[in-house]
Amino acid sequence: MQLRFCENCNCELLILLWIMENSDSEEPSTPFCEDCALAQEGKTWVVIQQFSVKKLQTMYDKLKLKLS
Ligand SMILES: [Zn+2]
Repeated sequence: MQLRFCENCNCELLILLWIMENSDSEEPSTPFCEDCALAQEGKTWVVIQQFSVKKLQTMYDKLKLKLS
């Protein structure tokens, strides 16, 4: 599992990645969070679902507190 962070506010992106649509560029896209994406007017966004909610739920269910 690769963690992705918002380019603007550096928050962790869990499920949805907001990528600015730019058909001219072959470069890897920079992800933003929903808040930062919607704050930029006049842009077209592609939203990528990184994990399903079900998968995220499964990952969290497997977490165990380690007390030592
Ligand atoms: Zn952000």
